[in-house]
Amino acid sequence: MFKSFEWSYHTDRHQYYNDFSTRNDLYAKKQNNMCGIVGYVGRRDACPILIKGLHRLEYRGYDSAGVALVNPDGRLNVFKCKGKVSDLEHFLDGKDLGGNIGIAHTRWATHGVPNDANAHPHYSESENIALIHNGIIENYRVLKDALEQNGYTFRSSTDSEVLVNLIEYVRATSGCSLPEAVRQALRQVIGAYAIAVVEKGNHDRIVAARQSSPMVVGVGDGEFFLSSDAASIIEYTEDFVYVGDGEIAVIDRNAPLKIVTLDNHDAKIDIKKLQLSISQLEKGGYPHFMLKEIYEQPRTIVDCIRGRINPDTCEVKLSGVIDHRDRFVNARRIIFVACGTSWHASLIGEHLVESICRIPVEVEYASEFRYRNPIIREDDIVVAVSQSGETADTLAAVELARKAGAFVFGICNVVGSSIARATDSGAYIHVGPEIGVASTKAFTGQVTVMAMLALAVGRERGTVTEAYYNEVSAALLHLPETMEEVLKVAPQVADLAKIFTYAHNFIYLGRGYNYPTALEGALKLKEISYIHAEGYPAAEMKHGPIALIDAEMPTVAIATPDHTYEKTASNIEEIKARGGKIIAVIARGDEQVRRSADFVIEVPVIAECLMPIVVSVPLQLLAYYIAVYKGRNVDQPRNLAKSVTVE
Ligand code: GLU
Repeated sequence: MFKSFEWSYHTDRHQYYNDFSTRNDLYAKKQNNMCGIVGYVGRRDACPILIKGLHRLEYRGYDSAGVALVNPDGRLNVFKCKGKVSDLEHFLDGKDLGGNIGIAHTRWATHGVPNDANAHPHYSESENIALIHNGIIENYRVLKDALEQNGYTFRSSTDSEVLVNLIEYVRATSGCSLPEAVRQALRQVIGAYAIAVVEKGNHDRIVAARQSSPMVVGVGDGEFFLSSDAASIIEYTEDFVYVGDGEIAVIDRNAPLKIVTLDNHDAKIDIKKLQLSISQLEKGGYPHFMLKEIYEQPRTIVDCIRGRINPDTCEVKLSGVIDHRDRFVNARRIIFVACGTSWHASLIGEHLVESICRIPVEVEYASEFRYRNPIIREDDIVVAVSQSGETADTLAAVELARKAGAFVFGICNVVGSSIARATDSGAYIHVGPEIGVASTKAFTGQVTVMAMLALAVGRERGTVTEAYYNEVSAALLHLPETMEEVLKVAPQVADLAKIFTYAHNFIYLGRGYNYPTALEGALKLKEISYIHAEGYPAAEMKHGPIALIDAEMPTVAIATPDHTYEKTASNIEEIKARGGKIIAVIARGDEQVRRSADFVIEVPVIAECLMPIVVSVPLQLLAYYIAVYKGRNVDQPRNLAKSVTVE
């Protein structure tokens, strides 16, 4: 698993969190929206309801699944395995599945590879309590050390197992009830969670709680349902209670629902009738996953930088770099290998690393690199970039680089993926499952990680000034707010999209850091609207492509302030002079380009090297709305697959 990768990363990160997490309001905003939990207590057979619920949550992306059931005679059984819900169903064949109460989980690994042992539910040490958890226990390391000193042992590498043992420990040492033990344990936890707990000998009660991860209780007649998404249980009831942040629900089939806060005050039970359709609910109220994922970006950037930048000192720490400091300091060359959107992110990475670290960089299509008999040396660092971590060509390039003796660093989203396992070190982008085929939040997460990588390495090499380092890391810390800001352009971009739905071709132009943004904007449009689009460095137009310009060929020009701004402004004039229609992405308040453009999209401005992250948002939205107006299948465009595991 990225060898030193996130193992040391997490250890390190926990230390880091303990230092400043609660003071940083970034953390307060954190929401974890991964995978799913389901629960049932009532008179029916719990297991079929739980399995059906898990199937309904499959869209959230996951790597393992499991259930815990309490038999009528009080036995507590846990069944879990790596893989799909259908694998779990096979695994359950012939097992003792009796019980009118149970909890079930799909996992998207954050701590520990996807395997049977790390799958949820987790038993406590004595096997008297079983717990499921979505989210991240940030201070798990400190809690685990303390529990180990008290004789607790662990069967998994997850942060979640720490919590079930903490609950058991509190219960054993204070003799309190299970809900009280959950409350006291959670008061010691820093992190995001939706949890549900059942215990041996009690077939009436589930205790559930949440902080920043979604959770809803469905209220039936003598029965209750629990889920991270009401869609998974909507066929059983229309009455829902949304559990609030920092609240604990005591769900007992013989009693009315009770909710208490972490401070032990009774919370109001507010039953809501649900009017959304199932498909709307799965997408969090958005019509498509792609739009949902575009809107998630302020939050996914928080997840990506959390624990990696100290908000007080602006210091950037990536343990995948710290653990291999000398390799980075002495690297003669960095080669990015990637495909598609990750290749575009890598072009931005090239710019970042060359200017901040002064290390020569090459960016390679993994599919070309692997078949070209490339020159790879032992003092090269190969950076493999892939959302899924399963991209076949990128994985092959990783293997080639390792054979040649280069140090290989991975940038992936999916924890425990093949590339994460095959690399020497790396950094996860932590943006959560990306379901829409057209990558959005993974792209901005990749660029964010690359910016942190460049700062971390640049500082070690002494190639970045203190002022620039602080400027960029402060801008990264404010990036979530900037992303909120830029998303406000959505209605205006939607109007623009209506005007341009007719177009058969598009040109996207940018320079410097935003040349790859132009390529990525064009790719988004191609992928989901099937409109032909090309991205170019703006100055290249006069070397050929400008011949294409006429009133039917719109140009999207990125002209935000940077050292090539004036030149881009001239390139825009040249297109205008040939009758081309210009949609310009400009800084708020820019008057110069506004005058020559037919339409403008104004964006907030931050450090130049981070502008691709901001500018990509309106380009994602433009592609999205054009595709919607053309009636395309936005989330599953024709001919494309999410994870390209074939060469
Ligand atoms: N952090 C936990 C784990 O890695 C839960 C992940 C999830 O949300 O499924 O097991």
